[in-house]
Order: sequence, then structure tokens, then C-alpha cells
Amino acid sequence: MRAEGAKQAARKAIREADRAEAEAWSIRMEGFGGPAQPSPTIGQCLNGGLGWLEVECNRCKNRASLPLDAIRRPRDTPIWKLEAALKCRSCRQGRHAPLVHMIKLTEQREITPYFWVHPDEER
Ligand SMILES: [Zn+2]
Repeated sequence: MRAEGAKQAARKAIREADRAEAEAWSIRMEGFGGPAQPSPTIGQCLNGGLGWLEVECNRCKNRASLPLDAIRRPRDTPIWKLEAALKCRSCRQGRHAPLVHMIKLTEQREITPYFWVHPDEER
């Protein structure tokens, strides 16, 4: 049982370290606008309990909260790499889409992404 306890303690320590790193990054992004690099990985954010990434479209200023566990990337992908792949569907025209930028990480969804993510269903 001692080994099991040690394992649990180790997992807890990792989780706390992951959370600290995700929080520090989030504070840097929200408070100072970056730099986005280096950043924690998707896995670290999820493990640390900050599973939602808030982003804002540079053009229409719509914001959305995206669930990190639904993003189809390896868990060891640093989250700054996601920024270039994210597109605001409201503004997208053909292959051209304005850039989005990341605001912060949150524990829970703070903004309904309905308008931003599913503009096609709006009408
Ligand atoms: Zn937009």
C-alpha cells in the first residue's frame, strides 16, 4: 500500500505542477498579452484542471471557449501551436480567415461558443 500511496502522491504533485504552469501561462496571456511561447501542453492543461481555452477573433472580436479535450492533437502539443489552426467561422470566407488570438485558460466554459463555432446553424 505504501507504493500505491507514493504513486498517488506523485500524481498529485504532477497535477499541481501542471496546474501551476497552465495558470502562469494564462495569467501572462490575459494580463500581458503574451508571449505565448513557451506554453504548457494540451495534456498539462487538462491534467491541471484548466481544460478550456478562451480565444478571440482579431477581426470581429467574438470570443469562444474551446474544450481542449476535444481538440484532435497529440496531448504533448504545446497550446501556442493551436493558435494558427484556430479559425473564426463567422469571418471565414473561402480559404481566407482572420487570425484569432488566445486569451486565457479556464476551468470551465465561460462563454457559450454557439455563435462563434456554429454560425451555419444560426439561421
Ligand atoms: Zn471573427
